[in-house]
Order: sequence, then C-alpha cells, then structure tokens
Amino acid sequence: MAITCIITGASRGIGKGAALALGELGANVIINYNKNKAMAEAVAREVISLGGKAEIFGADVSDFSACQKMVEFAIEKFGSVDALVNNAGISPMQNPFDMTDKEEWDKVFAVNVFGTFNCTKAVLPHMISIKRGSIVNLSSVWGIVGGSCEAVYSSSKAAVIGFTKAMAKELAPSRIRVNALAPGMIDTDMNSHLGKDDIEEIKNEIPLGRIGTITDMGNIIAFLCSDESGYITGEIIKADGGWC
Ligand code: NAP
Repeated sequence: MAITCIITGASRGIGKGAALALGELGANVIINYNKNKAMAEAVAREVISLGGKAEIFGADVSDFSACQKMVEFAIEKFGSVDALVNNAGISPMQNPFDMTDKEEWDKVFAVNVFGTFNCTKAVLPHMISIKRGSIVNLSSVWGIVGGSCEAVYSSSKAAVIGFTKAMAKELAPSRIRVNALAPGMIDTDMNSHLGKDDIEEIKNEIPLGRIGTITDMGNIIAFLCSDESGYITGEIIKADGGWC
C-alpha cells in the first residue's frame, strides 16, 4: 500500500529531493511551500511522472492553525498520513552572536523549532489514532558540533535533536518512529551566498571530496519514512561526507 507523506518546504532543495525519492517509491506526497507555489507545482508534476501521487499545500509552518489545515487536507485527499518530514527551515546571514538581534532569533526559532513542533502536534492525534507513523526532522551538523557565527541556527538545530530524542521515547508505545537527519553541506539555495572559492575550500575539507546533493538527502529521508527503517527510532543520522 502506498504511504502518504507530508513534506514541509518541498518546493525546492532537500524537501524537493525527499518528494522525488518518495515519488519513486510510489508514495502520495503533500508538497508544502511557503512562497513559491509555481515551484511546488513543478515538483508535484515530477513526483507524478515518477509514479507517485502529489498535491501541493501552501502553509507557513510557524502558524499552527495552517499546519492543522494541512494535515486535514492530506487526510481528505489520501485518507491517512503515514509520515511527516519537518524539513522547512531558514538560515540567517552568518554573523557573530553579538551582532544578531532578537527579531532574527525569533524568526529562526519560529520556523526551525516551532514549525517542527506545530506540524508534529497537528499530525499526532491522527498518527496516534492509527497507531503508526514516521516523523523525520531536519537538523544539521551545526546542531551537533556548533558553527562559529551560526549560534542561532546551530541552537535551533540542536533543539530539533532534543525534540527528536524525547519524542522517539514518548511515541514508541504508539508505534510512531521519530528520527532526524543532520546534513553537512548540501547544494541548495540555502548555500547560494557562498562563492566558488568558498565551495572549493569546503570540498577540500570533506573526506568524500564533494558537497551533498538533494538526491543524497532525499534517499535517506525516504528510507526513514518507509517501513524499511521500521526498527530505527530516536536516531540522528549525520550525512556529511565525513566532514564533521
Ligand atoms: P532551501 O533550499 O532554502 O529551501 C527551504 C524550503 O523551506 C523551501 O521549500 C521554502 O519554501 C521552505 N520554507 C521556508 N520557510 C518556510 C515556512 N515558514 N513555512 C513553510 N515552508 C518554508 O533549504 P534547504 O537547504 O533545502 O534546507 C532544508 C532543511 O535542511 C532546512 O531545515 C535546513 O536547515 C536543513 N539543512 C540544510 C543544509 C544545507 O546545506 N542546505 C544543511 C543542514 C541542514 P518556499 O520555496 O515556498 O519559500
């Protein structure tokens, strides 16, 4: 039976990679976006061309009632939600902590942390009622090792790790698995501020000699969503080519 999966922030980047990998498995995918509707529609067409089913849904994950509406929409369209990928995230400009302001901290936490809480809380009554589910949260290597001039982003991603581990324990009796992916440097818009030389320098630090792709990440997310990973919960999977 095809699984149904909500992926937040799937209009581009890692979320798109996850949508395509799940499309290849024949999944029903809800492609969430915030601003880029046309890109979400293009991802939906690709998912369908790969053999999956897709619907798009615009919602700002920092808005709890919008997340509830997204879950209701998914159940209405596909009858169930088996997996949730909390992927939507933002990364502020790199700055020393004393040059960051509260408005920026609030914005980063509203999406990266409270967005993850909101979607999880919205989907839980349904997953608990069907006694199954897989939740995949996007952390980052910076949430594990900390990044200089990235204190706000790093701490938001560390919060995602704490949430993942706690929820894995809390939800295991309901047969709901909760894991996180902690990517290293992935080729997406989030890193578009980096110049060619910066990328080369980073590549030289990565033992596998390349930065990651959205396909690399999508395959791991699809595995974590599927029953193939049925005995894995509470794990933080670092995927960084050996970098950190
Ligand atoms: P990206 O290319 O910048 O794409 C961000 C996605 O999130 C877009 O689909 C965007 O939607 C969506 N989004 C942003 N704010 C949102 C909101 N408030 N509500 C709903 N959707 C929202 O990012 P990415 O590189 O793919 O990153 C995806 C996740 O992986 C993030 O959580 C990020 O922190 C994490 N990560 C990335 C890297 C990396 O190197 N790229 C490394 C470690 C972790 P619109 O297109 O509609 O704006």
